Amino acid sequence: MEAAIKATAPGDFRIQRVVPVSGGDINRAYQLQTKSGRYFAKVNDAPQAPQMFVAESTGLAMLRQTVGIRAPQPFMAGQAHRDAFLLMEWIDAAGKHSEAGQAALGRMLAALHSQHRETFGLDHDNFIGRLPQANTPSADWTAFFIGQRLQKQLDIAQHTYSQAGLRASFDRLFARLGSLYPQEPPSLLHGDLWGGNYLVDAAGQPALIDPAVYYGHREADIAMTKLFGGFSTHFYAAYHEAYPLQAGWEARMDLWNLYPLLVHLNLFGASYLGAIQRSLKRYV
Ligand code: ADP
Repeated sequence: MEAAIKATAPGDFRIQRVVPVSGGDINRAYQLQTKSGRYFAKVNDAPQAPQMFVAESTGLAMLRQTVGIRAPQPFMAGQAHRDAFLLMEWIDAAGKHSEAGQAALGRMLAALHSQHRETFGLDHDNFIGRLPQANTPSADWTAFFIGQRLQKQLDIAQHTYSQAGLRASFDRLFARLGSLYPQEPPSLLHGDLWGGNYLVDAAGQPALIDPAVYYGHREADIAMTKLFGGFSTHFYAAYHEAYPLQAGWEARMDLWNLYPLLVHLNLFGASYLGAIQRSLKRYV
């Protein structure tokens, strides 16, 4: 990796120490200590890893284009022997969670969601975890959420799990989805905003990591923050103050979280089936 980076990096990129970093679901992660400072590197030898890291690098760059967003600067997506790697800015996640930090995170997400575009989707496909995420643009959120999100995961789930009961429920949901939510313009989303995908730096400031960006209904990002917790009332209050959510948003969280739950079903197994069934019951 050092040789691959040295070939393109300006200055002296000599790795002095490599420290494994725990916490990721998909990749091996390391802190690289060099003469010119510390870096964060993700490494993976899976066949799709090169494309995953290019997509993540693009996603981080898109987050960073929004004024007010903190996210690590991506430096290089490369290849070293069998491994693909992504090199980025090291963020010293030594900070304590605080009310001010949560409020800053809420404002950060509102700033991101204030980036609009004509259509839902993106000009390229990317990944959610290690699964492909299709982003073919559509002017219609219902069509996008069904065709590019739920159906794609159901297609994968079909091969692994018995879909008894689920198929009919999803069909009923698809038929009424358009009447279940208020319209929103397409917003730039983080796309995978669970509690493990932001860091708090030494100064207490939040930084977004590990995005799966696309333009979508912003309630889908808010919903993911509720999936496993990790965001305080100060986060929601600051978000709401900066960019108010439409009435009834809380009742739609389980609806949008059907997508990450199906992703979890496909990545981590059948233990997520119960949660999917319970969510479906709420809406059909
Ligand atoms: P994965 O793609 O495998 O899910 P993550 O992006 O979640 O990996 O990163 C794994 C861990 O590394 C995270 O839990 C976080 O603590 C740490 N981490 C991620 N990005 C950085 C960074 N830029 N600087 C320092 N630590 C980071």
